[in-house]
Amino acid sequence: MKKEEVLENLQSIAHNPFSYLKTKKEAGKKIIGSPLADVPPEMIYAAGFLPVTILGTNQPIVKASAHLPDNACSLARSNLELVLNYETDSFDGFVFPQVCDTTQHLSDIWRMTIPSELFASFLIPRQVDRKSARHWFYTETERLKKQLEDFSGRVILEEALGESFRLYNENRSLLREIYRIKKKDPQIISNRQLFDLIRSFCFMDPQDHIPLLSDLLSDLSTESPGKGKPIKVVLSGIAVEPAQLFDILDELKVSIVGDDLTVGSRMIDYDVPSRDDPIEALTERHFAKSPFSPIRDVGTRLYDHLLQVVEEAKADGIIYFHIKFCESQDYDLPDMKKIVRDKKIPMIVLDTEYQSVARSQTKTRLEAFVESLYGEQING
Ligand code: SF4
Repeated sequence: MKKEEVLENLQSIAHNPFSYLKTKKEAGKKIIGSPLADVPPEMIYAAGFLPVTILGTNQPIVKASAHLPDNACSLARSNLELVLNYETDSFDGFVFPQVCDTTQHLSDIWRMTIPSELFASFLIPRQVDRKSARHWFYTETERLKKQLEDFSGRVILEEALGESFRLYNENRSLLREIYRIKKKDPQIISNRQLFDLIRSFCFMDPQDHIPLLSDLLSDLSTESPGKGKPIKVVLSGIAVEPAQLFDILDELKVSIVGDDLTVGSRMIDYDVPSRDDPIEALTERHFAKSPFSPIRDVGTRLYDHLLQVVEEAKADGIIYFHIKFCESQDYDLPDMKKIVRDKKIPMIVLDTEYQSVARSQTKTRLEAFVESLYGEQING
């Protein structure tokens, strides 16, 4: 398949995954959804189900407000609205990670409000530098395995886990390669297209995703590099929503050369290593991951990691996406602003909400930021 055809196909799934998921359901697969972040999809897949990362909805909030306070984060409200109102039949079950206070409360609301065949909570240690954290994660992963086995009525065999690790590792490695090519040649695909590919990874069976990405990759490898020296930025935060924000960056001819996003590099950068014990392999992968606002060791690792991404990418500046009412990001921001200011790295903070984007206002702010970066490029 040709580049345009693959991109069109994957971008359509990225933004309307439920037609694709319906075909999977009709073929007999059960769909297991998980909100962000860190539920190992490999375990769900090895159990014979299709794991799907739930990324909320941009459609209006109608029903979720009856269950969540107005100051619950935009992601939580949008995820609940999706399953409560818009996609009531799409999921057969849920594995629900508790990563912050909001998801802890949402987990109970979800279990009591959304009818499903399976509801498994997945309790992730938030302070990953505690001695008990590894043991905790290992035990939780074992518990998840048992819950999935009870649900399917079958033991998850080591061979099935090994095959699942292999497929997901290959899937992530293809996405990393496409990202690497885009960093070298920013015009080869747009920012929106790159992040739509990562988004489609959240919904697709790797056996369907891998051949399409392989076709795309062979097409990209034969293209000649574009010209020009675009402004290079690193994106920081959890998720960039709504996706029109990427269109604005494309319109401004800004190139994304790195990120620390949960729906971004953190999702595709970490493979499951080869170990005799598959649960140990998943545990090792989890602890190798870069920090994410509510999941980290104490201290400055979140900021150190961002600075490292900026340095390695030789980026001109940082665009930080703050999800409205994300308490965890609220705590990070003052320190992050100070550290970035001390390092003299230009940064802009954009408040985002799943249901709306103040397009002209956001574009004007980003335009001013990008112009200031051009100014620094000329003067520097
Ligand atoms: S980490 Fe932030 S955005 Fe994610 S669920 Fe918790 S409060 Fe919401």
